[in-house]
Amino acid sequence: MLEKKMKQGSGFSGEEVIAEFERLTKDAAIVQRETLRRILAENAGVEYLRDLGLAGRTDPDSFRSCVPLATHADLEPYIERIADGDSSPILTAKPATSISLSSGTTQGKRKYLLFNEELVKSTMQIYRTSYAFRNREFPVGNGKALQFIYSSRQTKTKGGLTATTATTNVYRSEEFKATMRDIQSQCCSPDEVIFGSGGADFSQSLYCHLLCGLLAAGEVQIVSATFAHSVVLAFQTFERVWEELCADIRSGEVSPARVTTPAVRNAVEALLGGPMPELADEIARKCVALSNWYGVIPALWPNARYVYGIMTGSMEHYVKKLRHYAGELPLVAAEYGASEGWIGANVEPATPPELATFTVLPDIGYFEFIPLRPLDGGGAAGGGCYAEAEPVGLTEVAVGEQYEVVMTTFAGLYRYRLGDVVEVSGFHNATPKLKFVCRRNLMLSINIDKNSEQDLQLAVDAAARAALAAEKLEVVDYTSHADTSSSTSPGHYVVFLELNAEDAAAVDGDVLQSCCDELDRAFVDAGYVGSRKTKAIGALELRVLQRGTFQKVLRHYLSLGAPVSQFKSPRCVSRSNSGVLQILAACTVKVLFSSAYD
Ligand code: AMP
Repeated sequence: MLEKKMKQGSGFSGEEVIAEFERLTKDAAIVQRETLRRILAENAGVEYLRDLGLAGRTDPDSFRSCVPLATHADLEPYIERIADGDSSPILTAKPATSISLSSGTTQGKRKYLLFNEELVKSTMQIYRTSYAFRNREFPVGNGKALQFIYSSRQTKTKGGLTATTATTNVYRSEEFKATMRDIQSQCCSPDEVIFGSGGADFSQSLYCHLLCGLLAAGEVQIVSATFAHSVVLAFQTFERVWEELCADIRSGEVSPARVTTPAVRNAVEALLGGPMPELADEIARKCVALSNWYGVIPALWPNARYVYGIMTGSMEHYVKKLRHYAGELPLVAAEYGASEGWIGANVEPATPPELATFTVLPDIGYFEFIPLRPLDGGGAAGGGCYAEAEPVGLTEVAVGEQYEVVMTTFAGLYRYRLGDVVEVSGFHNATPKLKFVCRRNLMLSINIDKNSEQDLQLAVDAAARAALAAEKLEVVDYTSHADTSSSTSPGHYVVFLELNAEDAAAVDGDVLQSCCDELDRAFVDAGYVGSRKTKAIGALELRVLQRGTFQKVLRHYLSLGAPVSQFKSPRCVSRSNSGVLQILAACTVKVLFSSAYD
């Protein structure tokens, strides 16, 4: 009903969207049953469900008893046939309109997933919902948005389907464009900047986003990107290029060294419209007055109301830096979803990102949760090792417990294990509020030790606080590797840190040694501590990287076709990822070994 009204162009009513959300979340159990019924009725005849003997039944009990839990590897052969051109109803009754590629930066391998109009609809629903709550808290009217967004390359599968990121698939849809006009502030940059220089050469788009943002300074109300990392990267770049940006504004010409694609240059110069020396002087004055770039966003964009993007999970590391650039401006964590489908919206936008939760939309898919009990051994997420129990339904989860998300979607996923660990932090009406904990399969492990992505993050944070903060040193980015390459010596953890020091090789050796020892001590899972004491795991190795290393890692992923807008720094690099390991090795300026257990 609401969707139809908005399609007819009758505008956006935040209060109506919120009322609908309240109704759905109050009736979550009934809405879930109905959602499953709709998915299964629509797809009753598909090969996958037919072969499992579901025989057209649509109730949760039959579904759970006939259909097993599945991973991406289980579904891959089916998705591959579809990508190769088999148009029979394999996973969905309606044919897939394109293929989505997951980022693969967390798991090392890009996955193919089906994309169809249902995913466009659910994207609009989740954007509308989170916008309605955000706009109630921080109303923005008709201003502009400084968005650090970049289009992704599109390829064709063997069967002729377009393959690209889920967000690009969504943006291409006409229905999406029509609806989003109501609920999205206009981007400062012309389309040429977003679409014109995608792929590995995104730096000219980034430069132009900054330039266009400065030209529209008074109108900008939102600063955003899909992931917090892109906003931080943008302002780290701004620190280096602000004088060039000012020179371009002063002369009315875009630097030919920075922006080489003629269509992009022309579009931005048209926006510039000629020399603007007063504006250039004003920007320069503001930049010079800043102390270490603290509060650069509100200083240059005085009408910005908030900074928006995914700031949870592997993005949490960037929140500190983001807060520095944002000064007093609120940081608002964006919604929780995956290329597989959406899960929850942030309906409490004023909550700091570290505490952000995601309220599951009960009609967006059918959700189950595998209860996970962290096994003994400490570690924030139980060292990534869990005892599992039978999956429970959306409304049966318990506050304070951790679960792996299982989803059944309108896009051909049935009881699909997403691989994400979440914790239930409370309920909004009858539907749970989830806190993202970590991805399950990412862990450092040599023998009986298990450390998850979150354990690593906590260790890096603890070492930075204990050893680096007093020296005004910050961790720009980090990753790790379980080194088991030597057959004679025990395996050990390697932690790679890029620091904010211009010359990392010149950083005091004692400070780095203490950081290395603190890191080793900060892995508190019993398997690790025990193995370190018995020397079954060798001394932790700290590798200090030269400035800009993670930009090289980013470029490496982009050269392999990964989209910049989806990039998440890999937090654990396996031996098979030799490209990244080579970059890390070539950029290492100092190597230290922990003496914490000597
Ligand atoms: P992709 O496979 O590239 O679509 O990335 C999806 C994955 O990104 C999810 O399964 C999560 O692990 C992570 N992710 C997405 N949204 C969030 C969020 N709001 N907070 C934390 N992690 C997220």
